[in-house]
Amino acid sequence: MRLVEETPWRHRIEREGAMRVPGVVFASRALLPDGSGDHALRQVANVATLPGIVAASYAMPDVHEGYGFPIGGVAATDVGAGGVVSPGGVGFDISCGVRLLFSPDLALEELRPRLARVMDALGRQTPRGPGPGGVWRPRDRAELERVLLGGARYAVEQGHGVARDLERCEDRGAVGGAAPAQVSPHALERGIGQLGSLGSGNHFLEVQVVERVYDEHAARILGLAAGRICVMIHCGSRGLGHQTCADHVRVMDRAMASCGISVPDRMLACAPVDSPAGRDYLGAMSAAANYGRANRQLLAERVRRVFAEECPCGFDLVYDVSHNLAKLEEHDVDGDRRLLCVHRKGATRALPPGHPDLPAPLAEVGQPVLLPGTMGTASYVLVGVPGSPAFSSAAHGAGRVQSRHAAARSIGGRQLRTQLEARGIAVRGASWRGLAEETPTAYKDVDAVVEVTERAGLARKVARLLPVGVVKG
Ligand code: 5GP
Ligand code: MN
Ligand code: MN
Repeated sequence: MRLVEETPWRHRIEREGAMRVPGVVFASRALLPDGSGDHALRQVANVATLPGIVAASYAMPDVHEGYGFPIGGVAATDVGAGGVVSPGGVGFDISCGVRLLFSPDLALEELRPRLARVMDALGRQTPRGPGPGGVWRPRDRAELERVLLGGARYAVEQGHGVARDLERCEDRGAVGGAAPAQVSPHALERGIGQLGSLGSGNHFLEVQVVERVYDEHAARILGLAAGRICVMIHCGSRGLGHQTCADHVRVMDRAMASCGISVPDRMLACAPVDSPAGRDYLGAMSAAANYGRANRQLLAERVRRVFAEECPCGFDLVYDVSHNLAKLEEHDVDGDRRLLCVHRKGATRALPPGHPDLPAPLAEVGQPVLLPGTMGTASYVLVGVPGSPAFSSAAHGAGRVQSRHAAARSIGGRQLRTQLEARGIAVRGASWRGLAEETPTAYKDVDAVVEVTERAGLARKVARLLPVGVVKG
């Protein structure tokens, strides 16, 4: 594989073999995956072989190895030219994403004396861990199907939230085209008892303070101010999404031969968007995505309730955005308007200012991009910029550099908690082992990732957030 440094923020993987387009990796040398232990760059090249792929197989600065596609991968295929959709390009945790709440009333100094009680209550009242349990159980399968169609919108209609929340959700809270009939009975069974829960490991609910604002005007429009408190929620579609991905990978694996498609890695199983297997997957994926959207809406309501009881203040939604999704979007390709299937896996959509899909206030500054770092470092809020190079996409986090296993060998959970608490960060973990796997040293330097994101023209910084307390899944 030949890697060429185009700028200090951008590397190109030259086309070779079955690659239909080059690879483009938005990373400085320091952020490039280490070729010896991480196959992410090979995966970027593999994705470039997918039928119908246009422009390039892209990787964001937080790129690291994933299942088939790298995490931090963006790939768009031309629907009208036999372009494919691949469940591996979305990932198992369909519509995993981040939601940010902001309290205009609450300053860090006011929260400090009550922090331990707030964190205890958040820890107790946030269902988490790998098993069942959620804040709201649909009455029956018919109601679960209404969740799969309506997402956060259905949750709000049922009284879990306010109408304004939906204006601040990607797709106004629900993805169109959901087909609950394509979600298997087993997936529904797994999902019915987990609605409104974090899940495990990398998922979290974090109380943060706005440490720094880079653009006062944009911050005001998003509703952010320095010194005030935020809550960031990271979770996805739990067992329902996972089962949906597994079910459809199996179908596509079988369908590929009959469509005459071959891929260099079985984990890249795919089918034309415009084919029965492709349509069925997209319908199921959208349904699972709506489960993920409802999940974050319900957890946000739980946060509001806990604060109302322990430290009265209001929380407005800044934004809710997915980072594991495939979407049908129109983009210019070589001067032509084309319908593309844009896969973002461990990557966030980042629409520029003026985009018609943004509600009025956000259209002025661009779509918020929520970029979590780690429980011991900063997280960021950015916004989309005009003319961004990867179909309006940006990084979704700091990105792992160390396996869970290696992370847990490097530090004990108790020791890590002591270190974080000494820095004023309250920690409510689900297990010591799980906590150790998430040690901040297991991730890339988030400040460097954001720097490259900005330099590469993917998005620009609005605010930097610091952790105050974390509930880990
Ligand atoms: P992923 O969706 O790939 O599992 O995770 C997204 C990003 O979340 C990771 O790349 C990492 O930077 C970030 N992250 C993981 N755990 C935490 C945490 O406890 N707090 C914050 N702020 N970010 C985290
Ligand atoms: Mn996830
Ligand atoms: Mn995620």
